[in-house]
Amino acid sequence: METRILRGKPLAAAMRAEVAARAAALRDAGIVPTLAVVLVGDDAASRIYSASIQKAGAKLGVDVRLLELDAAIGGDGVRNALEALGADPEVHGIIVQQPLPKDVPGDVVDALPFAKDVDGATAESLGRLLAGREAFAPATAQAVVEVLDRAGIAVNGRHVVIVGRSAVVGKPLACLLLRKGDVGNATVTICHTGTSDLAAMTRTADILVAAMGVPEAVRGDMLAEGVVAIDVGVNRVEDPGSEKGYRVTGDIAADEATGVAAALTPVPGGVGTLTTTIILGNAVTAAAANG
Ligand code: NAP
Repeated sequence: METRILRGKPLAAAMRAEVAARAAALRDAGIVPTLAVVLVGDDAASRIYSASIQKAGAKLGVDVRLLELDAAIGGDGVRNALEALGADPEVHGIIVQQPLPKDVPGDVVDALPFAKDVDGATAESLGRLLAGREAFAPATAQAVVEVLDRAGIAVNGRHVVIVGRSAVVGKPLACLLLRKGDVGNATVTICHTGTSDLAAMTRTADILVAAMGVPEAVRGDMLAEGVVAIDVGVNRVEDPGSEKGYRVTGDIAADEATGVAAALTPVPGGVGTLTTTIILGNAVTAAAANG
């Protein structure tokens, strides 16, 4: 079987054009869509990610304000800063970079109002998602839905098996796919380390989403012929032969999936390509609703 490779770049380009048009219309109406990116402590990867969001925002017409907080201010200090941003009428969307320093509890994000929580990080947003109320879902879960939708892959009536039950990918993605409507109505199974026979479950999937964080854990013989394979995993594996000494791989053994799957997202260059655009797009949506 020929495997269609679902590259994120062309899908992201189409999304970027849509977000830029929506941002331009708001600017014409006197609203400057603004995203605050909160960086607590000094994580090098988060700093690089913040810079890339700023660059992408500049291209799309979204102001991106970086707020750097010293880890020493602790959980209460971060909460106060998030509450202040939440109350600032000029800020429409807010994200808090992960990982947080170890002395700052993860639930500080719950200080964000759900209407500005454009990466669906708070307990309120996740609860609203579960209850079928208005909320932003975590960007990676949204990215999986966007890839399927924009690639013209119907989920309605199909069996989606998700491997991974985290609050940033597996569980919110299940909520999105279970919604009534064309880009939902799937039958969803979630697997995890307690699943007794993972391969037996993955072989029943029409659409398989791997979000495990285990390099190439899904082998070719775990896939049904013709499955749509969505690889969310981003893993660094040692590769002494490469220039950097490592390579980035997904949770699906891509070489084994090729020829078995009907479609496959590459890693890198697949699902992850869309997340920044989704966050900026959500900030524009928040600005349109509350700007
Ligand atoms: P996580 O919080 O570590 O969750 C991993 C999930 O996979 C857990 O539910 C775990 O089960 C399950 N799992 C791990 N090994 C398994 C196995 N052998 N069999 C069955 N289930 C297994 O990770 P995450 O934050 O959801 O991220 C998952 C992957 O997506 C990572 O590679 C991460 O880097 C990537 N990611 C990518 C993006 C992006 O933008 N592309 C964004 C976020 C995450 P238990 O619950 O039983 O432990």
